[in-house]
Amino acid sequence: MGDERVTKVAAWLHDYADTITEHSQELTDLDREIGDADHGFNMERGVKAIAALDPAQFADPGAYLKKVGMTLVSTVGGAAGPLYGTLFLRMATALPTDTALTTATFAKALRAGLEGVTQRGKSAVGDKTMVDALAPAVERLEADAAAGDKLANALKHASTAAQQGRDATVDLVARRGRASYLGERSKGHLDPGAASLTMLIESAARTLS
Ligand code: ADP
Ligand code: MG
Ligand code: MG
Repeated sequence: MGDERVTKVAAWLHDYADTITEHSQELTDLDREIGDADHGFNMERGVKAIAALDPAQFADPGAYLKKVGMTLVSTVGGAAGPLYGTLFLRMATALPTDTALTTATFAKALRAGLEGVTQRGKSAVGDKTMVDALAPAVERLEADAAAGDKLANALKHASTAAQQGRDATVDLVARRGRASYLGERSKGHLDPGAASLTMLIESAARTLS
């Protein structure tokens, strides 16, 4: 018990919980433009349930992240619940139990999470979803891992990549999720899921090193 990596991952997710709670209304307002005005509230419910978990009960980050994933599936609802849940469940499986949290291991886990999201959501880059923020972040982490960059630095770069991906959703026509019902009219609005996903990477950059 008291695994140092679990403590770090918990610090990340607590920062995320605070961030989502702080921006809940803003995320819901984005969803009002091209969805059904609930994304911030959905996510807030999920992160509050995560923050209520006791990290000391988990022997390794995999066990903790598995519980986080299941908690998101059961509390967030909508499209984002199963997708965020899958992201964390896949990360849980991909994270080695016996090695340190590094740029390479974090990149590998997040890559597995991205693959889970795109499989489950049948989504790809350019569909105007959370994938548009997550995919560039993963790519940047992989490049930095190959270059031997430290995790803290790599996560700063990955945050910038996610922000750019998020901002680029404004000009896209939605091809997945509720926003796709709007067709061309979804253009000109930032995707709420890309916004909440970017916050997840920004939280990682503030807490993981
Ligand atoms: P709902 O649309 O069911 O109300 P939310 O509002 O909580 O769910 O979440 C909407 C977000 O989920 C979108 O902004 C988008 O980023 C993401 N999303 C929806 N469908 C998909 C999908 N098929 N693949 C990836 N992300 C998706
Ligand atoms: Mg919604
Ligand atoms: Mg909804």
